[in-house]
Amino acid sequence: HQQTLEQILTSIDGRGYASYKQLSGHHPLGRFTLNVDKVQVDPFAPPSLMRISLSREDAGLPGDLLDDRLGRIAASDFLARAFAEAVTAEAAEGSGSAASISIGRPGQQVLERTSVVITEDLITARLSVALPAAGRRALGVKAARLLTETLPRVAEASLLHTSLDQEALRSHVTLLRDQEDLRTQLTAAKLVCFAADGSVLPRQAGDSDLPLGVEAVEFHSPESLRRSFSLPSGRQVTGMGVPEGVTVIVGGGYHGKSTLLRAIERGVYPHIAGDGREWVITRDSAASIRAEDGRSAAGVDISAFISGLPSGADTRSFSSTNASGSTSQATNLVEAVEAGACALLIDEDTSATNFMIRDDQMRRLVPAEREPITPFVDRVRPLFTERGVSTVLVAGGSGAFFEVADQVIALQDYQLREVTAEAHRIAADHQTRPAGPESGVFTADPARVPRRASLHPGKKTKPARSRGHRMIQYGREDIDLTAVAQLVDPAQTEALAKALDRLAEQADDARDIPALVAELVERLDVEGLDGLSPHRGHPGHLARPRTQEIHAAINRYRGLTLH
Ligand code: ADP
Ligand code: MG
Repeated sequence: HQQTLEQILTSIDGRGYASYKQLSGHHPLGRFTLNVDKVQVDPFAPPSLMRISLSREDAGLPGDLLDDRLGRIAASDFLARAFAEAVTAEAAEGSGSAASISIGRPGQQVLERTSVVITEDLITARLSVALPAAGRRALGVKAARLLTETLPRVAEASLLHTSLDQEALRSHVTLLRDQEDLRTQLTAAKLVCFAADGSVLPRQAGDSDLPLGVEAVEFHSPESLRRSFSLPSGRQVTGMGVPEGVTVIVGGGYHGKSTLLRAIERGVYPHIAGDGREWVITRDSAASIRAEDGRSAAGVDISAFISGLPSGADTRSFSSTNASGSTSQATNLVEAVEAGACALLIDEDTSATNFMIRDDQMRRLVPAEREPITPFVDRVRPLFTERGVSTVLVAGGSGAFFEVADQVIALQDYQLREVTAEAHRIAADHQTRPAGPESGVFTADPARVPRRASLHPGKKTKPARSRGHRMIQYGREDIDLTAVAQLVDPAQTEALAKALDRLAEQADDARDIPALVAELVERLDVEGLDGLSPHRGHPGHLARPRTQEIHAAINRYRGLTLH
């Protein structure tokens, strides 16, 4: 006969920690089922992995909220947040070791996650639980209270429709459906991004993703760029649409330029109600580009920007273990385009000046044939005309981009004005730039085919894993993602680590990086994020990264070599 969870835990109270191993398997807990997938070997190891599930019928969530993929993503996100809140509430009431239960707390974005999964017949919450210990002994009785009393209470409070704020759940789903509908409308409207009037862009602090309080000046669109959209819920949104092409944001220092660009960068993700950026929506593949000196590069064709290096290196296949400011920015740009970016988002604050512009006096002193760099200002138009890649650029320190801009937007005291005509007039008075070619600059990308052996960092090494938000340990190498600005959640970083292992399995010494990533992305579309993990049932706490970030991670792997 099978012992109950409580009997097992009572019987191992005070015994060695390893006796928690007996928990493996599934246990009924009233209307819930607890699955113990992986038991930690000692109190200091990563916490144990468990799942608590109940039938869709018992959960009672309205079917119309769950009948499409977006509805399930939004509802899962809502349940995960409710679960995390219920854990916090239990812990605040002094309920034993409630805080040792974790579901991975979502931030300001709504991302596809593995934390709560909704299938045809089940709702499952994936947890990590640090099982209680005294020294190296198991505290079985305490664990019994945690798993048979506290945990079901948390699940009752967060997975049952009757215990939830039902209106809030419905608006959470409606909001995501509206946001993603607007995102698809941007393409047809030939816009790169949209920001609704009334949005709050600034954050509380540099290390906070929460909205600035009463001091925040709300976003207000300049009339000339004002657009309105009707959304599936019947909602209308009005605000600024940034058209495709070249857009330059100007203004004095501290007038809010970087804050606007940062909001556009983050707009590739949907934000929760109350964030202030829930109606800042950017086309999905827009990529933030910055200088990143010190990064590695493998076989990237940066010849449109840099050629004739004094070292004699061939920039049609540029490799480096330590790229400079300008070569790293060129590399980031070319890789983003290879990954399918429809738009580049560039801030002067994080750019290499010599990559961006070269002024008139310098053009006279150092002739073009002795300068390896063709600045971005000479390439931004062909990038759009030949490749269809738009640019949104912050430039407060130079008017060099005026003549190549389709739109110039000025920020003053956080208020926007369109100043394109004025900027074009000024540019006409100061013909500084020799007119460059509008075509024939961006030739076909050479295929970058990874050597399979270079992606297998050795048979004995462990699976790739993330360390915090910005680092992945892959074989013997650390992949530094500090400069990958649109990576917003540590659970995305963990998903990227797993993505690298899957890409290594897929690599066949024939297909190039975009083909390998596309296959993986397709698999995730079909199987969901669980497809990233070899451990079915409980893949850990993962959040979906974009295609752009998968490319960014593999491209920063220092061991990468190509055919
Ligand atoms: P810039 O890039 O033009 O120098 P920033 O975007 O860095 O300026 O903004 C400067 C400061 O102003 C930041 O502390 C930012 O949080 C704040 N800020 C930006 N936009 C707003 C706004 N709309 N309302 C209130 N404060 C803002
Ligand atoms: Mg700035």
